[in-house]
Amino acid sequence: MQPQVIKSVQEMRLRSAQLRQSGHRIAFVPTMGYLHEGHLSLVRKARDLADVVVMSIFVNPAQFGPNEDIAAYPRDLARDKRLAASAGTDIIFSPSNAEMYPEGYQTSVLVKDVSQGLCGAFRPGHFEGVATVVAKLFNIVRPHLAVFGEKDAQQAIVIQRMVVDLNMDIDIVVAPIVREHDGLAMSSRNEYLTADERRQAAVLFESLRTAKELIAAGERDVDNVKTAMRTVISKASKSRIQYIEIADSINLKPLGRIAGEFYVLLAVYIGKTRLIDNVKISVPDKNIGQNSH
Ligand code: AMP
Repeated sequence: MQPQVIKSVQEMRLRSAQLRQSGHRIAFVPTMGYLHEGHLSLVRKARDLADVVVMSIFVNPAQFGPNEDIAAYPRDLARDKRLAASAGTDIIFSPSNAEMYPEGYQTSVLVKDVSQGLCGAFRPGHFEGVATVVAKLFNIVRPHLAVFGEKDAQQAIVIQRMVVDLNMDIDIVVAPIVREHDGLAMSSRNEYLTADERRQAAVLFESLRTAKELIAAGERDVDNVKTAMRTVISKASKSRIQYIEIADSINLKPLGRIAGEFYVLLAVYIGKTRLIDNVKISVPDKNIGQNSH
């Protein structure tokens, strides 16, 4: 079945109210469209957890910086409708900019500390734009739960923080990263890569795998891991590293030494395209290990 496409805020609110009144559990998957298997994995997860799946498709101007080309972001609603339907989406909410930010609009949601480092340091205002639009979408769609991808780990943490801090009654579910055959994390932005750049982009995942292997072999020095990752990435002639970081999995503070549960995260330009990726790793605490055996 084709999903119902709703463009107006008022209609979406009405539909959601009806669904809630008739006892349905609503799961929500916010996206910017140009769907790929990563998005569809979130829809399938949402399907497992609820009766009705609402996906939003909205390329949010508030989360793009002045030097980021929002006009170039890929869009294809007809294709998205087909793909969304194939994964079990019931409703697509696809509002216009004017519908979301009418004249006179002036409110924003700022989640402080966890928005600051990593991508936040290089994209000022980005997570404020994300938190604001997600808060608005939550108020319009009124879901019981929402599914986000771990591909954007910092985003998921910002949203989890917002939901706790603002007492929003919505469960946040974080789903694993879906990758291409060579390990490249799926992304609508992969569309920008030339064939040569696409081949080179495999170094992102390769460097994360290197980090994982080094840590598994006992490396605990953050700088040694980062240096090994830089070496892998520098094999790609069109690569330019924006950041490589090893950060606590809860508060995203950079680690001084490798311990506990953490993310290895990176943002790398391949040509003009900025790509991000991460892996979550945990290393056993030696003391616990010794005490329990
Ligand atoms: P976007 O359309 O890029 O804003 O992404 C919408 C949602 O899909 C976000 O929660 C992303 O984290 C998630 N997502 C994007 N790419 C992937 C991927 N490769 N695997 C899992 N989730 C993803």
